[in-house]
Parts: sequence; structure tokens; C-alpha cells
Amino acid sequence: MILIRYLIVGVANTLVGLGTIYFAMYFLHFNVVQSNALGYSIGILLSFSLNKTWTFSSRDHITSSFIRYLLVLGIAYTANLATVLFICSHFYFSPYIAQAIGIIPYTAIGFLGSRYFAFRTQGQSGTSDAVENKLPNKVVFDKKSVTPRIVDVSIVVPCYNEEAVLAETTSRLADLLQQLIIERSITPSSRVYYVDDGSSDKTWELIEYLAETHEFVHGIQLSRNRGHQNALLAGLLSVEGEVIISVDADLQDDMSAIKKMIEYYIAGYDIVYGVRDARETDTFFKSFTAKAYYRLLSMMGVEIIYNHADYRLMSRQTIEALKEFSEVNLFLRGIIPQLGFSYAIVYYDRAERYAGESKYPLKKMLSFAWQGITSFSSMPLHFITALGLLVSLISFLITAWAIWIRLFTDDAVPGWASTVLPIYFLGGIQLLCLGVIGEYLAKIYSETKRRPRYIIKKII
Ligand code: UDP
Ligand code: MG
Repeated sequence: MILIRYLIVGVANTLVGLGTIYFAMYFLHFNVVQSNALGYSIGILLSFSLNKTWTFSSRDHITSSFIRYLLVLGIAYTANLATVLFICSHFYFSPYIAQAIGIIPYTAIGFLGSRYFAFRTQGQSGTSDAVENKLPNKVVFDKKSVTPRIVDVSIVVPCYNEEAVLAETTSRLADLLQQLIIERSITPSSRVYYVDDGSSDKTWELIEYLAETHEFVHGIQLSRNRGHQNALLAGLLSVEGEVIISVDADLQDDMSAIKKMIEYYIAGYDIVYGVRDARETDTFFKSFTAKAYYRLLSMMGVEIIYNHADYRLMSRQTIEALKEFSEVNLFLRGIIPQLGFSYAIVYYDRAERYAGESKYPLKKMLSFAWQGITSFSSMPLHFITALGLLVSLISFLITAWAIWIRLFTDDAVPGWASTVLPIYFLGGIQLLCLGVIGEYLAKIYSETKRRPRYIIKKII
């Protein structure tokens, strides 16, 4: 599996490298040496970053692993050359065949060198995943050693245009609560709070009806749509109960995990995260982007529980701690690990949405993802500084080169490329940097206003 990835990176890298060389020759009028230098540099940078993050999911320091990687490439290339020369001088093969054979030691040395030398710390093979490895092992406790206790539970369910699923959700929750009450693990007064996030369909009417017909059902109506995270927070901060469990309305999260969550709570854990075991029911696109995203977050130093959505149990004490966080840009998945406290993880299978449509179209998903990064990491800012330094350095080298051409050669033609390209390049980089800074400014702007994150219209 890793070898296949390595080969894919190799092929991609060759294509990009060759493409750059031809581009430089035909469009930028570079000579052969310059084009090759540019093509190889880009190829090496690309293959390094792909191999580091994708092929080997390495957690090595970037500079030291880059130097080791360069060394490996150097040795591999020397072996390649030596093989080709040896074959050409001892056998009557054509240079093409010799070159083809030479690729074998090149690839072998490159692969083994990268695997065991350049990228030392790696995720496990197969679905190698650096983030997954960070998870604690499943916590196992001896149920007999834990004194059974009856806990008072509130379940918070944010709902936005969920009229198609609420009846089914209620009947499943009713079954679950009844079973837990009979087993004497939760109090008979345990309850469910549906938070209507400004739905435009009949969701609130349905909640009112359910509240009348079922004693355990309550509702919170927000004054308008504020998004999943705010709706969830409104629920968490407004309801009573010794523990609060949050779960989506669409029945994607397996409700039977709640029983286990409560067991962990009784065993002494303050927060119990529901983590999906498999993402098979999601589309390939969604599961791939989600995985890449969790990885990116952890690379940027954001603490987050891998594959955990907002299905979790929180004790009263942790809810009180959550109240101290007054940020407007809300990304609960990032905040809750920051609370501290002891936590455990319950694994469950994620099902298809029971009915209705996902309320997270691509656009919302992207904005949520961006929220997660900018709310918890200032890495993009550091990145800008590094980029700025790099670009300045490159410009400096180009300037030196231009002066050299002007002074010592007769080739100093006032060129289009050397005048116009840097303008575009620098203009682009500056805009990018300004944009990222603007993102943070916008955050500060909304934080300083201290506007309420939600307004409750009614509680039943
Ligand atoms: N939701 C909400 N407000 C919104 C969008 C969604 O309260 O603006 C609720 C929605 O009703 C559901 C949960 O958030 O209970 C998760 O949404 P969804 O299932 O659509 O997201 P997905 O599972 O597709 O990521
Ligand atoms: Mg869903």
C-alpha cells in the first residue's frame, strides 16, 4: 500500500517536473539548465511534501526530514547513474533499456531510504493515520467494581427543518429511555430537549405536539436560525440534569451508544465522546475530505478527537466550565477537549440519515472547516511569515542573478517575463496574505462586539 502510494507520487512528480521544464523552456524562454533546475526543484518539493504527509504520514520535523530526503534522493540518483553506466559499458543494451533498468535501484533505494531514514516516525501502514494513533486505547473497566447509580439525564437534540424525522426520533428515544429507566440507570424524570433552530417548516409545531403527548419531551425555540453549533450550545447551557448528552436529530448516530456513555460516566469519566467506527455510509467525497481535514487540524496543533462529531456526554461540571467560554465563533469540537477533565470514548457505527436532507451542504461544510482552523490555530499567520521570508529570499536571488547578467554578459535583454511575472507573483502573494490577516481581523471584530450567540424565544 505504501509502495503504491510512493509510486503514484513518483509518477505525479515526474509529470509535474517535466511539465515545468517544458513550460519554462517554451513560455519563459529559460535555457535547458535553468528549466531543469526549476523543474527538479519543484519536483523535489512536491514529492517531499506528498511523501511526508500522504505516503508515510510522517510526524518528523520538516527541515531535518527534508535534508534526509535530499540525501536519499542523491544516493538513489547516483545508484541510478552507476547502473546505467555499468550496463552501457558492459552489455550491448541500448541506452533506453539501460535507463529503464536503472530506474529499479533508483526506486528501491528511494523507497527504502524514505521509509526507514527520511521519514522515521510514521503512522501505521494500511490506513495509516497519525491522528488516529493519538486516541487513547479503549478504556476498559470492570463493571462489578463500579457502584451502580441512577443518573439524571437530559438529551439535547438540535433540529433544523427536521419534521420528517422527529416522530421516529422521539419513538426511538422513548424506547431507549424506558429501557434505561427499567434498568435503573437513569431517573424516571430524565428528559429530551429539542432545540428548534429557527426552522422554516413545521418542526416547532411538531415539537409542541410531541411535548404535549410525551411527558419526557421538552422544546427550546430559538428566535431564528443560528446554525448547528449555536443551537447545540443553547441546549447545553439551558437545560437541567446531572449529565447532558447531545445527539443529532437525524438518527445517524447509533442511540444505543448512550447506554455505554452513561456507564462510563458512572465509572468516573466527565466527558464521553462518541466516535464513529466506520465512515462507510458517508459518500467517498465526504469521508475523504473529513479525514484530510482532521489530519490538517492536528498538523496545525488543534486538539480534536478524530472522527468525533457532536455526539457526546458531558457532566454538569464540564457544562459549567463550558459557560466560561464566551467566544462567538463557535467550534465545540475544538473547545471541549480544552476543558480538560477525564474523558473516555465510545465507538459506534454511523448510519444513513433517516429522512430529510443533510443541512450541511458543501458551502456550510467548508465554512465550518475554516472556522475550526482559524478559531484554534494561528498557524496560517506563521505560515504567512515563512512565505514572506521565502519569497523575499527568492526575489533577492533573482535580483542578484539579474545584476550578474547585466554586468558580466551581453544577454541583458529587457525581458517581458522578468518584469511582469514578479509583479503578478508578488501581487498574488500579498493579496493572499492580506486575505488571511483579514480573516483573523474579522474574527476579532465579531468577538469584540460580544453579541449574544442565540436568543431563546420559548422553552416548553
Ligand atoms: N442543524 C441545526 N441547525 C442548522 C443545521 C443543522 O440545528 O443550521 C441540526 C440538524 O437538524 C441535525 C444536526 O444539526 O440535527 C446535524 O445536521 P445534519 O444531519 O444535516 O448534518 P450532517 O450529519 O449531514 O453533517
Ligand atoms: Mg446528519
